[in-house]
Amino acid sequence: MEKVNPDFLDNVKEMGAFDISACYSCGNCTAVCPLSTEEYSFPRKMIRYSMLGIEDKILSGPELWQCYYCGECTDTCPREADPGGLMMALRRYTIRQYSVGKIADIFYGGTSSVIAWVFLSLVAIAGLVYFHNPTPNLQRVDPLSFITLDFLHYAGMVLGIVIAFFAIAQLVIMWRSLYKDEMHVTIGEWWQSFWDILINEVFIQKTFNECEDKNRYWAHLALLWGFLGLFLATILAFGIDFLISVDSGLKIIPHVLGIVSGLVLLYGSGYYLYRRYFIKDSYSKYSHHSDWVFIWLMFLAGLTGFLLDLFVWINLPWPAYIAFAVHLVVVFDLLLTAPFAKFAHAMYRPLALWISKTYSNKEKVQQAQA
Ligand code: SF4
Ligand code: SF4
Repeated sequence: MEKVNPDFLDNVKEMGAFDISACYSCGNCTAVCPLSTEEYSFPRKMIRYSMLGIEDKILSGPELWQCYYCGECTDTCPREADPGGLMMALRRYTIRQYSVGKIADIFYGGTSSVIAWVFLSLVAIAGLVYFHNPTPNLQRVDPLSFITLDFLHYAGMVLGIVIAFFAIAQLVIMWRSLYKDEMHVTIGEWWQSFWDILINEVFIQKTFNECEDKNRYWAHLALLWGFLGLFLATILAFGIDFLISVDSGLKIIPHVLGIVSGLVLLYGSGYYLYRRYFIKDSYSKYSHHSDWVFIWLMFLAGLTGFLLDLFVWINLPWPAYIAFAVHLVVVFDLLLTAPFAKFAHAMYRPLALWISKTYSNKEKVQQAQA
């Protein structure tokens, strides 16, 4: 017997599913969805569960994370019930449910999220004001003469531990929710599908490419690779400073990588900002404030990362130090809130796809043996 949450639909509506009560269950949305399959069918099934308040069925399935919010279902819904919007609202709701100590609630509330973002930014600014060097190198740009490597090292370690703790704890919560004991999957089978998901769904996002709007696919890929490229450029730059020398000619590698990745991230985030502000596609006509904050932080991370590497390259000390300081504040906000805010989909989706892929493979093997 399924447990029913009578407030479920109202709670999900608060997360952005404003029109879903208009649904009369025709099934058009599922028929047109390019990603729905016989095995994992959505969004109509999600709508039915939502209306009936069967929350557990939604939280224990991978369907939410298989949707890439292309909006094709919303475009063809005869009742304008916005089924794609429901999928996104369910995802916001689910991120809150998986969150340790309900911390994610803070970032999905109106006033609480404003207070939290301002507070976190002030903490980062206070750290920079306290630990910056008022007399940095003005002959040749050296970001580590402005903010010391020791401070960045220890602050980065604390940040990394906090993020890893919450990310792992919440992934375990999701794992327990989606895991099916009766499937008897071997470690070898988990391992095999792990690589499949990592390459095809994380690095290439092959399934997203099945949606009709290819521009949106490329922009999403740019968000991922721009962010990863900037992350790698930062590690390389500090690694060369730390292990080789601040004067090493090898630093050209992270600078070029940083500039290129910053531009790629700017393209991806800029595309989504532009569509959401100026082109009212079905997927961009309503944006929750958590969407706005995420895309703006990604955009600012790309912009400041790009400017920092550019100013270092052409040797403009103060512009480089200011870009560096702003970049650190933005990245602090983005990373510290990653397990709780919209960024969390980057960890939940691969896990959900991995589990569902493994079970699909297992079922195929079992059917072949039967
Ligand atoms: S959301 Fe629209 S298309 Fe989907 S079942 Fe309901 S009425 Fe039909
Ligand atoms: S938004 Fe796109 S992927 Fe998501 S349910 Fe609708 S049609 Fe399917």
